[in-house]
Amino acid sequence: MEYDMLLLRFGEIILKGRNRSRFEKVAHNHVKALLHPYPRAEIMKEYGRIYIALNGEPLAPIVAAMKNVFGVTSISPIRVTPSRLEDIIPAAVHFVKELGVGPGTRFKVSARRVWKPFPHSTHEMNKLVSGPILNACPELHVDVHDPELELRVEIREQGTYLFSEVIPGAGGFPLGTNGKAMLLLSGGIDSPVAGWSALRRGLEIECVHFHSYPFTSKKAEQKVIDLATVLAGFAGSIKMHLVPFTDIQTKLAKSGQENLTITLMRRSMLRIATKLAERNGALALVTGDSLGQVASQTLSSMNAIGRVTDLPLLRPLVMTDKVDIIAMAQQIGTYDLSILPYEDCCTLFVPKSPATNPNLHVLESVERSLEDLDEMIQKAVEDTETIVIRPGRSIVRREAGEDPVVQENWF
Ligand code: ATP
Ligand code: MG
Repeated sequence: MEYDMLLLRFGEIILKGRNRSRFEKVAHNHVKALLHPYPRAEIMKEYGRIYIALNGEPLAPIVAAMKNVFGVTSISPIRVTPSRLEDIIPAAVHFVKELGVGPGTRFKVSARRVWKPFPHSTHEMNKLVSGPILNACPELHVDVHDPELELRVEIREQGTYLFSEVIPGAGGFPLGTNGKAMLLLSGGIDSPVAGWSALRRGLEIECVHFHSYPFTSKKAEQKVIDLATVLAGFAGSIKMHLVPFTDIQTKLAKSGQENLTITLMRRSMLRIATKLAERNGALALVTGDSLGQVASQTLSSMNAIGRVTDLPLLRPLVMTDKVDIIAMAQQIGTYDLSILPYEDCCTLFVPKSPATNPNLHVLESVERSLEDLDEMIQKAVEDTETIVIRPGRSIVRREAGEDPVVQENWF
């Protein structure tokens, strides 16, 4: 089937809210950025919709790109024909034939007359168009209440749009329209998916990653940068804060409470992330926690860990099963990176039996006994290195004190 245009629809909340024009503007810019590799494609805005004229650009990769536009609920490829009855009818018949319908398919025509001077009403058009289609495709039968195939015929001055396919979009809110949050990004499967969920919900994100160099390798760091690069493919560019965590981790591991090490580490991570969030104007923290997945994600652990921050702790995956998280990771393209075997800082000092029910008083007293913990946390914040990650680029190697080497492989 030859298509001429795409129709992108927005969700209810976006259309009905007070921020409609801001939402639409952001989504429009997102579409524009994603269409950069397709210079002939043209964007046209309309109330609650965006149209893209393909002008010879390929349909499939553009549809795939548009599925990444947050706030767009569905996408329909459109065939355009001149707004004259003698053109519309054969084009509609051809359109339905090309779809290759099976016997007994329930069918309906829904006409809409946007261009009022067009001489036939929508009611007449439904009849005028469905008659010849039923003649040409006797395997169809009309069912106006529950059609499997609904042919939409939108009559406009500049042309009539024929479409039927409805492809699900990403949904959510347009990029960054709900404020900024700090994502704790590890090299695992969960946190990149949590980051994508946050982006989809209209949050701008910055990433914070804790590394224990030289216990953790540069390859492990590169893996996290690559994960953030995938997220940048959805977000535009993303800031990433790399926090040196070795000293704190070593100190906590020696606290004499082996089974609490992970809990203590998480508390310190959240304290640092909170400070970085405050510095960078982020109003929440996002983690990849999923209830019950590991010892540090029991309700009791979450309770003991979350207390160190005043910021809202957003856990998009808290109720999601691992199989579903994996499926999402595969869909967004982070899974293959996440399963690369490089160590994470937390896998280094894993206690034999991490506490699943840590006692808050014990945690607090261990932290008090480590007198310089607060200074170490402050120092880690000061020594944090910030890099900007752009879509499709990978930062190849960075020696201490040198600027990142950036490899360009995007437009
Ligand atoms: P993930 O797959 O996201 O690593 P996980 O199941 O391995 O999750 P944990 O390692 O217990 O779970 O981590 C829980 C959450 O804590 C992560 O989802 C992430 O948000 C944060 N986190 C853990 N390690 C780090 C790290 N080194 N740097 C930044 N955030 C981290
Ligand atoms: Mg992990």
